[in-house]
Amino acid sequence: MDTWLEMMRRHFNYALGQRYDWLRRTRCQIDRCSLTREPIGDIPDKFPGYNLQAAELKTTKELFPAYKEIHAEVQQQNLKRLDKAWDRWIKPDKSGKRAGRPKFKKKGQMRSFTFPRINCPKAGINRIEAGVLTLSKIGSMPVTMHRPLPDGFELKTATIVKKPDGWYIAVSLEDDSVPTPKPVDVSEAGRSPIKSAVGVDLGLKSFLVTSNGESVDVQQHYRKTQKHLARQQKRLANKEPGSVNALKQKEKISRIHQRIGRKREIFHLQIAHQLVKKYDLIVVEDLNIKGLAKTRLAKSIYDVAWGKFLTVMEAVALRSGVHFVKVSPHNTTVNCSSCGTKVPKTLSVRVHECPRCNLEMDRDENAAINILYKGLTAVGLTVAAYRRLSGCTPDEVGMPKA
Ligand SMILES: [Zn+2]
Repeated sequence: MDTWLEMMRRHFNYALGQRYDWLRRTRCQIDRCSLTREPIGDIPDKFPGYNLQAAELKTTKELFPAYKEIHAEVQQQNLKRLDKAWDRWIKPDKSGKRAGRPKFKKKGQMRSFTFPRINCPKAGINRIEAGVLTLSKIGSMPVTMHRPLPDGFELKTATIVKKPDGWYIAVSLEDDSVPTPKPVDVSEAGRSPIKSAVGVDLGLKSFLVTSNGESVDVQQHYRKTQKHLARQQKRLANKEPGSVNALKQKEKISRIHQRIGRKREIFHLQIAHQLVKKYDLIVVEDLNIKGLAKTRLAKSIYDVAWGKFLTVMEAVALRSGVHFVKVSPHNTTVNCSSCGTKVPKTLSVRVHECPRCNLEMDRDENAAINILYKGLTAVGLTVAAYRRLSGCTPDEVGMPKA
């Protein structure tokens, strides 16, 4: 499987090079000619898209017989993956955004390959059942089944992934009867009314504070292992680059990172499930994480991993049929949640004190309430309507006292 990954990496790079070459040869600037470099050779008449590149797989196998030892569909999937990355770069999506330019993969950067069909007559001998995985040209191997394959699903693709602690297989399943997620729209009749809603403020001091005043502490997985990591990094630096020992040390370090990541994921899932159990509508801030990660707070932000949390939160909410809304964080910390007056404060000011209505509360809680209101507006509910639905009195926490 390691050999497959390496060969597929080379083929991926070749195919990507072919595409860049086509770009260079077929266009130049409108108003000038380059004096320093011009492509040499013929201008290819056809763009090396997926169909052309897949057709060339035959030639590849003639020139490099080793590629005959890789399942043909796996090689096609490899090209398809490149095609997708290319399209994401060339074609803007609905909001006009484009992904980054596809990069050449360095040694060890290709970490997975996909069988597009498994357990069906057309998949040949590729099957997974009762703890045994059989793959064409590779053979049979025992697998630990994380859970039994559910009945009534059609097995679609199987992806083999190399992770720091070993090999994994991810199987995708399809069932046409899976319900579509609830759209967040409460204005139409017949939809489930929102009886309990919560605004969530994400922070560095507490991992999150809700509009009801609950808070969860940050778990500093990365900070805690930092010394340990630094020691292991130093050991790596003392080893001869490229040696077997250096490789072993590298693997050890990636296992530490994997462990941190897993702990964090479990933490995120726990929080998400707690929120979903309690509330029908969860509102969060849509944070500019990339911008924040460049600041001095980078390490702390790495530790809380808000971006990952929001992804987990959204997935858990969808699965449990709970409404989930992201709102712009604009002015949420400044505004007074009771009367709307702007109360500017620096990061060190932990308490929100309103000079107009004398409201005094934790600054994060104040922000969480503002986030909740923005979310309610986003799904078409007014604060008064929400209060009627939930049977809240104005005195209850999270509601304006006005
Ligand atoms: Zn106020």
